[in-house]
Amino acid sequence: MNRWPRIGIGYDVHAFGPGEHVMLGGVRIAHTHGLVAHSDGDVALHALCDALLGALPLGDIGHHFPPSDERWRGADSRALLRHCGELLRTRGYVVGNCDLVIVCERPRLAPHIALMRACIADDLRCAMEDVSVKATTSERLGFTGREEGIAAQAVVMLHPNGDSP
Ligand code: MG
Repeated sequence: MNRWPRIGIGYDVHAFGPGEHVMLGGVRIAHTHGLVAHSDGDVALHALCDALLGALPLGDIGHHFPPSDERWRGADSRALLRHCGELLRTRGYVVGNCDLVIVCERPRLAPHIALMRACIADDLRCAMEDVSVKATTSERLGFTGREEGIAAQAVVMLHPNGDSP
């Protein structure tokens, strides 16, 4: 039986390209650009998936959902997240809590944070109170500051499913 909590960290970046919306935290947000990606380009959920996979540890998102695999072309990243949730449950863990940071100048994310948290909690079968999503800018510095792309970081704590250690 698993006795100890486990932590994981994830990071992802996608470049802006043509488009009229971005997907972030499972939420469709109107924008002047889209994100270039094999999937729907949801950097926040990709960072979270990598954190979950890292905690188990089961490699990374590129291993589980390779760009060469046509099944994942244009994929809804929420399906990827639910798959990662299945992996952790089958290994005897539940999500204790997770914390995400999304870095971009635009679009403005504050109005969408609550829905992102609800989507993630739903996909990972945990409480919204266990999901934190934060947005920040990089003060116009670097690639995020120049609005060339969006970056996201995530950390997750997994708890053994069952009696506390
Ligand atoms: Mg990605």
